[in-house]
Amino acid sequence: MIVLEDDTLSELKSSYKQQKERFLPEESPFSTLFVDITHRCNMTCKNCYIPIRDLPDMPVDWLYTVLERLPRRTRIRLAGAEPTMREDLPEIISKVRALGHLPVVLTNGLKFGRHSYVKRLKSVGLRTVYLSLNGGLRDDLYETIDELACADRKLQALDNLLIEKMNVTTGTILVPSINDSHLPEFVDYLLERGVKDIHLRSVGAIGNYMKETPYDLEGLEDCLINALGKSTESLKKTGDSPSHREYLLGTSIKFQLTAWPDLGSSSRGRITPDGFVEPMFESIVLNEFSY
Ligand code: SF4
Repeated sequence: MIVLEDDTLSELKSSYKQQKERFLPEESPFSTLFVDITHRCNMTCKNCYIPIRDLPDMPVDWLYTVLERLPRRTRIRLAGAEPTMREDLPEIISKVRALGHLPVVLTNGLKFGRHSYVKRLKSVGLRTVYLSLNGGLRDDLYETIDELACADRKLQALDNLLIEKMNVTTGTILVPSINDSHLPEFVDYLLERGVKDIHLRSVGAIGNYMKETPYDLEGLEDCLINALGKSTESLKKTGDSPSHREYLLGTSIKFQLTAWPDLGSSSRGRITPDGFVEPMFESIVLNEFSY
């Protein structure tokens, strides 16, 4: 495991400042762009890289003018804080589609626990959702990590998304000695449900974060191998970088591991409030807009 000290963050910041890159929307090199459409949230998780809540929502007409200028079809990851706090999320999804891009919603899933809500978003063009499930199947783990006993609602959200045949990636922050021992049971559950994309990650010292020493990539990989047991025999590594690894289980189930620091967002950018796009992770670390 790695120990992330505050001076490590300072070093990262100063190195990013020196090599800082940003682009006009028409010059965006990114295939994926994150958009923080709101800073509101209905949860108060202990690990939240974007914890400031009193910033205004992103104006949609402004967002659409940025999206119109992008040079290619781009995955637009509608994030936040919690994007479902916006009542106009269906209209935003529909407009992202109309502009030729692919909308993706990153969510804590509380509102997706209502099946009618999932159907509504599907009807306007949503097909892909990243669902955060830090506590797996257990209320006590959600309470410890996310400060809310919400297992039923989260798992209902997962079922609703799968019933509607959405592409679902589940995201789980693994916290040493808290939810790691639950992973085998949780992974079994996800595989039984037919989830095809499972993302495990450690937490970085950005925004609000638990002080436990985070897993590094090797630690995350050990957790995955332990969780899969004998099935590990059919696990193949398909991607490897200093902070991210990808695997295929059999022919169709993808596992992703991401450890802090996730350096180098070559394919993922973020739309900034002043109308530029910049590499996602560097943008989070520098936090020049005081999120
Ligand atoms: S991590 Fe996501 S769900 Fe949790 S408080 Fe932050 S924005 Fe809200």
